[in-house]
Amino acid sequence: MPPQHDRIRAAERLTKPLYASWAEARALLDGLPGGGLNIAHEAVDRHVAAGKGARLAVRWLAKDGSTRDLTYADLQTLANKFANVLAGLGIKRGERVFSLLGRVPTLYAAVLGTLKAGAAFSPLFSAFGPEPARSRMEIGDARVLVTTAAFYKKKIAPVRDALPGLRHILIVGDGADDVPGGVALDEALVKASAEFKIVATKPSDTALIHFTSGTTGKPKGAVHAHEAVVAHHVTGAYALDFRKGDVFWCTADPGWVTGMSYGIIAPLTNAITMIVDEADFDAERWYDILQDQRVNVWYTAPTAIRMLMKAGEAPIKARDLSRLRFMASVGEPLNPEAVTWSAKAFGIPFHDNWWQTETGGIMIANVPGLDVKPGSMGKPLPGIVAAIVKRSDGGTVEEIEEPMQMGELALKPGWPSMFREYLNEPARYAKCFADGWYLTGDLAKRDADGYFWFVGRGDDVIKSAGHLIGPFEVESALMEHNAVAEAGVIGTPDPVAGEVVKAFVVLKPGVEGGEETRKSILAHARVKLGPAIAPRTIDFRKNLPKTRSGKIMRRLLKARELGLPEGDLSTLESDEK
Ligand code: ATP
Ligand code: MG
Repeated sequence: MPPQHDRIRAAERLTKPLYASWAEARALLDGLPGGGLNIAHEAVDRHVAAGKGARLAVRWLAKDGSTRDLTYADLQTLANKFANVLAGLGIKRGERVFSLLGRVPTLYAAVLGTLKAGAAFSPLFSAFGPEPARSRMEIGDARVLVTTAAFYKKKIAPVRDALPGLRHILIVGDGADDVPGGVALDEALVKASAEFKIVATKPSDTALIHFTSGTTGKPKGAVHAHEAVVAHHVTGAYALDFRKGDVFWCTADPGWVTGMSYGIIAPLTNAITMIVDEADFDAERWYDILQDQRVNVWYTAPTAIRMLMKAGEAPIKARDLSRLRFMASVGEPLNPEAVTWSAKAFGIPFHDNWWQTETGGIMIANVPGLDVKPGSMGKPLPGIVAAIVKRSDGGTVEEIEEPMQMGELALKPGWPSMFREYLNEPARYAKCFADGWYLTGDLAKRDADGYFWFVGRGDDVIKSAGHLIGPFEVESALMEHNAVAEAGVIGTPDPVAGEVVKAFVVLKPGVEGGEETRKSILAHARVKLGPAIAPRTIDFRKNLPKTRSGKIMRRLLKARELGLPEGDLSTLESDEK
């Protein structure tokens, strides 16, 4: 579609959103007879019933270069078979099925089959070691685990005895005989019937359990209900601009909420084609996928974008990415630098959006047609009431009306994908709500045009000489310096100022990390931010500690700097001190 035409269409969508209320959004879905609602029905069965079974649902790209296509009808068959396997094992409604798998086709069948069977699904990230896997399965009271023989041996066998409630281990691929009590899943699926009568789940029934990223501390198990599909469906269509016939690629692993809400559910409920790449990040591979699979909509994360920026524009110019129409980012603040870079390199900017494991779906976004202000997360979606608030000690919450005042980002509860509990932590759940608001724990500002600007997580904010400094602002300023690839900023104690800003910087390839560079970056930061906010010191690092979902762990930078206990490291990925 020519860009001009495309812009007009996007603007139309903005003035006439797909839905104005959650009731309208719900009416876009089928529902089950008798008022029930089931995510898998909305994702697969209703399309097959409407004659769309031959549409391509998933194109799976294997690490070895082969591909496998699954139509909506194929997905339905596989999901039904998986549901029958669970039923054959006596798995009851509400029981929990966990997975510890890479991005392989059976994972997708397992998610949908579990939901059809009325059980709840919890995906674990495949890189978890024994202890993170055990603790999550214990908290979630796992009854079934779907994994491979190799993962079992390495990650589950050492903790098997500590999981007495885990009754069935379903093994994908070979080697089930070597797993005590292991069921060869591929064979069981071949034998199972392809017909299954979906369990009539209620909208409030538990469907998914997602553990948070562990950026600020021990991960929490957020429980989501089938009703969440109402939000997945319309936010995908609206905030990610899904259109009929689209090929969509969400790069997040289903082990995290993004990879489930938008890497499985939303594209399927919208009957479009989704790409699943089994392999991990590689700039050349990613650009090849965008080109060869003719991706129209791409949803990724700031860490990946920063890595692509490091690789430069040449690989983009060398390819035909003309099918790419909309690009979005989530998970961390998207530095303005990344927005302007992408607009230049791709011809379209990354659209930042904000949400959390707890919110289950996109809440605030730069939707198509909205003018992007680089560095802003955009505006609340229809149905979402967001505010900047101040909590008082007495438990009341006051809205801050004045533009560009920093406060806590809060949402009015009641959207369909809101988490229903933190597993085993009712007090912690209760603490998230006060005075009719859900308090997100993030600090932000709202400008006079209604755009929201992320400041930092409540825990990460630096208090220096009477200023409250958000690390994002400082990191974004550092990112503008052409030697800087990535930055993480913390506060360190100071007898005079209370805290001063310290930056950890990863330099671009080929840049010398000497005194000259340090001085040049510090000088740039002072000009940009002023001396009160600019970092006092900069340490150069080869990489920054990150969660496996790609978030900078500032709490760990700080703990290491101050020699404090490192806390829960179950989601830590790169670990260079
Ligand atoms: P934990 O709660 O265990 O510390 P986490 O908060 O990183 O981990 P997630 O639910 O995966 O776990 O991440 C949500 C958080 O990520 C948000 O609260 C926010 O701090 C950050 N985030 C997500 N999207 C954005 C965005 N577009 N801009 C800024 N921050 C974002
Ligand atoms: Mg969080």
